[in-house]
Amino acid sequence: MSTRQRRELWPSFVDVALVALVLVVGLAGSLGAYRSLSLKAAAQEREQLNAMGQSVVGAFDRQLMRVVEALQAAGQMLSAQTDLTREQFMRYGASLVGDASGLTLLEWQPVVPHEQLAAFERQAAREQPGYLVVEPAPDDRGGGFVAARPREFHVPVHYSWPESGAAVGVDMAFDPRRMHSKLLARDTGVPIASEVFTVIHRGQPGGARSGFAVSAPVYRVPRPVGTEARRRELRGFLAGVVELPSLMSEALVRAEANGLDVFVFDQEEDHRLIYASASGEPSRVDERGMALSVDVGGRPWQLVLRPRPGALGNAVDRTPLLALAAGGLATLLVALAVGRSLVVRRHLERTETVLAEDRQHLSNVIDGTAAGTWDWRLDSDRLAINERWAQMLGYTCAELEPISGQTWERLCHPGDLVEARQALDRHLGGQEERYAAEFRMRHAQGHWVWVQSSGRVFERDADDRPLRLAGTHLDISRRKADEQRLLNDARALEAANRQLRDLAILDALTGAFNRRHFDDICLASAQRGQAVGLCMLDIDHFKAYNDRYGHQAGDAVLRAFAQTLNNGLKRSTDALFRLGGEEFGVIFSASSAAVARQFVGRLSAAVHALAVPHADSPHRIVTASFGVAWWAAPTSGLTPEAMYAAADEALYEAKRAGRDQIVAHCFLAGEGEALPAGPQA
Ligand code: GH3
Ligand code: MG
Ligand code: MG
Repeated sequence: MSTRQRRELWPSFVDVALVALVLVVGLAGSLGAYRSLSLKAAAQEREQLNAMGQSVVGAFDRQLMRVVEALQAAGQMLSAQTDLTREQFMRYGASLVGDASGLTLLEWQPVVPHEQLAAFERQAAREQPGYLVVEPAPDDRGGGFVAARPREFHVPVHYSWPESGAAVGVDMAFDPRRMHSKLLARDTGVPIASEVFTVIHRGQPGGARSGFAVSAPVYRVPRPVGTEARRRELRGFLAGVVELPSLMSEALVRAEANGLDVFVFDQEEDHRLIYASASGEPSRVDERGMALSVDVGGRPWQLVLRPRPGALGNAVDRTPLLALAAGGLATLLVALAVGRSLVVRRHLERTETVLAEDRQHLSNVIDGTAAGTWDWRLDSDRLAINERWAQMLGYTCAELEPISGQTWERLCHPGDLVEARQALDRHLGGQEERYAAEFRMRHAQGHWVWVQSSGRVFERDADDRPLRLAGTHLDISRRKADEQRLLNDARALEAANRQLRDLAILDALTGAFNRRHFDDICLASAQRGQAVGLCMLDIDHFKAYNDRYGHQAGDAVLRAFAQTLNNGLKRSTDALFRLGGEEFGVIFSASSAAVARQFVGRLSAAVHALAVPHADSPHRIVTASFGVAWWAAPTSGLTPEAMYAAADEALYEAKRAGRDQIVAHCFLAGEGEALPAGPQA
């Protein structure tokens, strides 16, 4: 990859990196918001769960406390009585079991040393005939009960409330596990709960329920102090069976109300599940649940509360997810917008580069042509020009400010302004595709500079009216000077040519056509085919005039005659000739012989009117003799020589007849076109 390619690709890398950065920052922010909101929601949920848990556990605790306190109070009351009768126990039983809800069975279990067992059985049988202390038969004996086997002491069930209690007579000491809690109660002096077991109600179908026993120690003296005294003074145990469903009833109502499932574990028995309000034991307390430890008659239990799906706030809090989605979407949109704006910016940059190159190119072209540029806003009359425009006229732009259309008008030559405006109007009016004009403009030093201006409209309003036009000024002073010089040269040449031509056909003294031109004109007149006349005149006694007045005076007379005769010509085709010496010829058009005579008569009169004195003439003034030939319908056969000869003959006649007179020969169609026979006199 070349350095140039790398430089061109670099902005794209930067753009991509920028968009990626926006995406990363935006998504990270969204994730952060999601996490923080989630944590907050979880904390709220936990707080709520905690409050609900406390309420459930509170209910459980209260109910348990009632049972334990009732048993403890009853135990202490029994301590005060040396002989407990069946009736007395039944009263306690009726009041306690009725009172403390959850307590379903109350038993009096005295401690009977083995040597007193037989006496105890006899005593008890008096109140309850057939009373025997028994224990469950070992499994290999096929179930049922057998007589209690000998042991250090027995703890038989003596009284039971309700009376139909299944376990009356059963020696609790047979089971070390049950005895464990009783011995603990004995040593501590407070009621202690047993492990949970299945409570069997004899005679009640389907009556198997989970429960546990709470044993309250009963001593012979009230509140013995110390383990030794307690062991020595122990009389028996007041045991209450608490069924878990009853114990949990109030707690369950609350748990139900809060949408919680309740699981109870006995921690002492290696976290054994002892109660579940729903199926699906939680293997561990997950983050949505909570675990609370309670002391149940000295046994550590754990209540695990697990909210049912959608229980908390009745709905999953979707705010964090919504925030994440909204944040992600917003990030995406921002990234898109940033990406798009970057693309547009790159495009603009590229366009600007191209424009700058174009501008440089245009500037080079303008520099190269040394053109002044102008840009004229018609609505505001503002005229923007470049330095060259001003410099052409010896100014700087700053010196001309403010520059408007009026600046141009002020500097333009008044004689050229009208035409320039007309050219502009033709372009603005649509007659000309371009505006082009040449005019002079006043230079700062006072002289005029020829300017060629051209341009065109390049901006129009909605109604297609021109708004802006622009163009160039070129200094064409040198070209104009060259043109002028050429024009002058051409004029001089033309004058010289004219002079040469005149020299060829004109008589230098009188300005009349000369003899050389005579033949051409005669021919042309004859060929027109219309009536034509030739008048020849010769000044009378002119030698004598020269002799008396001098040759120069004679020349003056010749010029005066030529002038007078020329003034008498009527039509453009009429022409005056000096045929030689003091002899003139006039070719003229005349529609009839009479008209021809009249015409020549007027020439003669005009000559008379000059009245140039001539002392040596019989007429006392300078006169002339006129010979006229007129053809009514000449043909192309009429030659100049024939015309000359005919007129000359008439002149000869006029001279012979005495001079100062007119002799005319008129020819009808086809006449007088051949040369007269014989030599001319
Ligand atoms: P006529 O009445 O018979 O014509 O007599 P004339 O004297 O006019 O005739 P002639 O032919 O004998 O003389 C012509 C004279 O015209 C001769 C000459 O002195 C004069 N003349 C001819 N050409 C010029 C000219 O150019 N200038 C001057 N001043 N005189 C001229
Ligand atoms: Mg003559
Ligand atoms: Mg003469």
